[in-house]
Amino acid sequence: MSLSDRDLKVLWHPYTQMKTAKAPIGIVRGEGAWLYDEDGNGYLDAISSWWVNTVGHSNPHIAEKVAEQLKTLEHVLFAGFTHPKAVELAERLLKVLPKNQARIFLSDNGSTAVEVAIKMTLQYWSNKGIKKNKIIAFNGSYHGDTFGAMSISGRGAFVAPFESLLFDVDFIDVPVSGKEEVSLSQLNEIIEKQKDNIAAFIYEPLIQGASGMIMYEPEALDDLLKICRSNSILTIADEVMTGFGRTGKFFASEYMSIDPDILCMSKGITGGTMALGATSSSAAMYDAFYADDKLKTFFHGHSYTANPVACSAACASLDIYDEKETWIAVERIGIQHLNFAKRLEGFDSIKDVRCRGTIIAIELNTDEGTSYFSNIRDSIYDYFIAKRIILRPLGNIIYILPPYVISEEDLNLVYDAIIEFFENKS
Ligand SMILES: *Cc1c(COP(=O)(O)O)cnc(C)c1O
Repeated sequence: MSLSDRDLKVLWHPYTQMKTAKAPIGIVRGEGAWLYDEDGNGYLDAISSWWVNTVGHSNPHIAEKVAEQLKTLEHVLFAGFTHPKAVELAERLLKVLPKNQARIFLSDNGSTAVEVAIKMTLQYWSNKGIKKNKIIAFNGSYHGDTFGAMSISGRGAFVAPFESLLFDVDFIDVPVSGKEEVSLSQLNEIIEKQKDNIAAFIYEPLIQGASGMIMYEPEALDDLLKICRSNSILTIADEVMTGFGRTGKFFASEYMSIDPDILCMSKGITGGTMALGATSSSAAMYDAFYADDKLKTFFHGHSYTANPVACSAACASLDIYDEKETWIAVERIGIQHLNFAKRLEGFDSIKDVRCRGTIIAIELNTDEGTSYFSNIRDSIYDYFIAKRIILRPLGNIIYILPPYVISEEDLNLVYDAIIEFFENKS
């Protein structure tokens, strides 16, 4: 029996309607930007395996460091104990994070990094004896799949079955080009109505990933952040997707003049090797918990918090970010995307092309709209899989979000396949 046949008997896949989905492709090996199936066919990973892989599959440097760590110390509980790789990781992250960040809290994935952020901001006010419990988020945002993260995510099909149990959040529009004023006035209106009850504002800086690579400008976000700051609203940058070079800088928050109070990381933190989440916070945040009063403790943790193997993968990945070749690659991908955007001009079936750093998104002109469930999405996916290129459109939006190790030639393969797709369409 093939791997996919065995899989179909026992597994349940994420975001997959098991009845109608095609059988999963059994991948047995990865190298650089390529994944290989049981029959030896190569698939070009143009979306970094769900946005996590930055440094290439089966990266030899990370593999070596992880193997070393496994033989030295595989795990130790992180309350009452510490270990070298957690300390090193926190020290190194604080060197690259926005300057005001002072503490690192570790967890397991992007959703937990966000849960930690929400709980920290709410308890921050509680510890200070101030009653504030409202959170503001963007319409269409995606912050993860646990209940807190779902609550602060845009309402839609993914959360519909749980909607009655999600806590109440105020949503404002994303300040995309032309909508900056709308977004600002919505924020001001909420502040006016609720005055002193707003605890925090959470946002995906510059790019809303899951809702279709929606992009907006740093100045527009800065304006919102300034209002938050002057109204004592804590700001949480969810950089789970945008962190670790994705937008051209280490963190997207570097594009803004206002540093966030809290920043969430995951996905690229281990270069795409292992699950790890991290939530960084300012010193002021930390100080609100630092007390003789035990009730001011941050009561949150996971069994695998600060797992040494995951931390060593993250440190090894940071070694790769220390090399200037990595940043040359990030810049080169951005330039290639901008040139590719010019090749896409003039196709009637294209509504919009947008780029930021290593991400390019192409929005199709379709009657079906942007639904994640549109048939067009499935047919585009199948089209590229048949060409052995992994692209997973978000509704009618095709995007490329590659590992930084992708070669110029391999990226051109993806571009040529997309051009061919549009030529066949028109
Ligand atoms: C993927 C993602 C998350 C959730 O991360 P998981 O590791 O999948 O739980 C949260 N926020 C953003 C912006 C994301 O892109």
